[in-house]
Amino acid sequence: MLSVEEARQQMLKSIPVLPTEKRDILECSGYVLAEELHAKENIPPFDNSAMDGFAVRSTDVKNVTEENPTELSVIETIAAGYAPEKRVSSGQAARIMTGAMMPDGADAVVMQEVTELVGDKVKILESVDKNENVRFIGESVNIGSSVITPGKVLRPPEVSMMASLNCAEASVYSKPKVAIVSTGDELTPLGEPLKPGKIRDSNRYGIYAQVQNAGGIPIDMGIAPDDETETERIFRESIAKADALITSGGVSVGEHDIVKNVLTKLGQMNFWRVAMKPGKPQAYGEIDGKPVFGLPGNPVSSLVVFELFVRPALLKMAGHTDLLRPTFNAVLASDVTNKDGRVNFMRAILTEENGEYIAKTTGPQGSGILHSLVLANGLITIPSGASLQSGEIVDAQFLN
Ligand code: AMP
Ligand code: MG
Repeated sequence: MLSVEEARQQMLKSIPVLPTEKRDILECSGYVLAEELHAKENIPPFDNSAMDGFAVRSTDVKNVTEENPTELSVIETIAAGYAPEKRVSSGQAARIMTGAMMPDGADAVVMQEVTELVGDKVKILESVDKNENVRFIGESVNIGSSVITPGKVLRPPEVSMMASLNCAEASVYSKPKVAIVSTGDELTPLGEPLKPGKIRDSNRYGIYAQVQNAGGIPIDMGIAPDDETETERIFRESIAKADALITSGGVSVGEHDIVKNVLTKLGQMNFWRVAMKPGKPQAYGEIDGKPVFGLPGNPVSSLVVFELFVRPALLKMAGHTDLLRPTFNAVLASDVTNKDGRVNFMRAILTEENGEYIAKTTGPQGSGILHSLVLANGLITIPSGASLQSGEIVDAQFLN
């Protein structure tokens, strides 16, 4: 059996990064940039005022105070979006708005709050230094400089910066289209009455949401019965439509656990037993060079294995390099034992108290008890054979 780290490393090595595509600026949030973005213009493009106030020559208002004010003639008003028409000479000022272009002759702005307008003159009540309240051309970004590097996730600040740089589109890594199939004769779609022996197909919906959450594009391929021929047909159809396939159920050692057979027949299976709980039986392989993730059928196992294996794989496909959720220390709120030979990812409520995280497990932890995940906001790692007491430290990570 492989350890979680071994299995994940092995799997991630073989995951392909998807090709790039050009995307419109309005459609590129959350994508990973595949090119370097340079400044084709200076930001800001001209010297401008950082305040509403008066553009002056700083030497004209040197040593000015409320008790010892000075008066300047106001020669024009410069609004944002317009070029000044006059030059400010000694004894003069131009009324100026935030973001408006600095007039020639002026080298500072006195903010409006320390002035009094008297007819066509302005009384200045406070001195300013040269360059004060002025934003200079290129002070945010200099023309020609590299501003956003390849591999950066385009978050709202990057999108805003793209617009500042006059980039209407960018080359980004494609997001993976992910086909999702549930397997099992017992599964009943929503809305149909449950016949004896049947249960609801919950995994398909949970996985669909996880794919969305991980930035992938889910494709619902429905339920495959426990029949090899039909499962094979559905897998082929899925692979034709998607960049990756996720199945749930049918990867254990039961006689109807046919996912591994079908995967081996259509492509290649790489490993199927990982020393973890929940989720020991799982399959990872490929068909036509596209990754196939065979998740266990038990609802908790399916969601946890996705979180630890499939999520980083989908992130890699989409060009991300930061693939794993950060782990941190948490203090156990109660005693926990793991008699198993496999590491146990327990579902926990993580809260911050006095600068440290406290971990409370969410009741019964059976791999079929979906409610243990509904109550949880994180996972804690209990090493195999560990017998830990309340107050001891464990590794923890948040879930979405
Ligand atoms: P299997 O690995 O197919 O033997 O499934 C293990 C357990 O998970 C069985 O109790 C199944 O009924 C259950 N299971 C399998 N697929 C799903 C699903 N899509 N939704 C909910 N439970 C499932
Ligand atoms: Mg099954």
